[in-house]
Amino acid sequence: MHFQWYPGHMTKAKRMMQENIKLIDLVIELVDARIPMSSRNPDIDELGRNKSRLILLNKADLAEDKWNDEWIAYFKEKGFSCVKVNSKKGGGVKSIQSVIQEACKEKMERDRKRGILNRPVRAMVVGIPNVGKSTFINALAGKACAKTGNKPGVTKGKQWIRLNKNVELLDTPGILWPKFEDQSVGLKLAFIGSIKDEILNVEELAADFITFAKNSYPGVLADKYDIEEAGDSYECLKAIAESRHCLVRGNELDTEKAAALLLDDFRNGRLGRLTLEYPEK
Ligand code: GDP
Repeated sequence: MHFQWYPGHMTKAKRMMQENIKLIDLVIELVDARIPMSSRNPDIDELGRNKSRLILLNKADLAEDKWNDEWIAYFKEKGFSCVKVNSKKGGGVKSIQSVIQEACKEKMERDRKRGILNRPVRAMVVGIPNVGKSTFINALAGKACAKTGNKPGVTKGKQWIRLNKNVELLDTPGILWPKFEDQSVGLKLAFIGSIKDEILNVEELAADFITFAKNSYPGVLADKYDIEEAGDSYECLKAIAESRHCLVRGNELDTEKAAALLLDDFRNGRLGRLTLEYPEK
């Protein structure tokens, strides 16, 4: 399967980020806890040079907790502050203020030495579409002050949300487009729903997902759909169609419907907490 991205959007978003990033001290980068590496855009390391950095493993509720902790250790080792959060339910969000403070400690200390007192730290949330930026900003600010949804934002007048006397947050998140020369990265982004299903072959995608699930989480599909996992992935997809009564014209198996159902179950955590990639040792 081949994926394409939209260079037009990318350039525009990048320009906006470059402008906004000049104003801030701390980059709060959201990644998807199920694919912490594939949901990062490598440009952020260049854009965020000389800034304090905090990585949030968002949607931590959908990923295996053991791997969440391994990823936190991995990013910390690389010099980032890192915590896991569930922005939707608010899990981990409360403690973020102190984490932000901690991530900016050096910067505040430098300010203090130069006689700059009481200048709040300015932070910006960044991440790929759908990673949960708006949900996180809403949860952190405690009210619906950032638009949720999946529309590329355009900064007009910049608005700062005051989190406390020490921290201000830019209300408009920075959108980074996912980047992949590597098709396996594209595939994982497609699994979690970051690439519109309309431009994909959903049955092929589901079959690839089945291959992954059978290898990394044997038994999960068998338990959920009451099927045999033996046999090739497309056979499994047919078995899911059968077990879930996905039929067309009365008696033909509707594998397209079964594929959509499977992907939807995964994306919404109904297959349990599954992590799709693991940190390098
Ligand atoms: P944005 O495009 O980065 O601003 O992403 P949104 O904030 O619009 O969120 C995209 C989708 O992910 C929405 O359906 C949210 O409800 C969902 N979402 C956001 N954070 C979490 C989370 O921590 N856990 C789960 N399960 N869903 C989340």
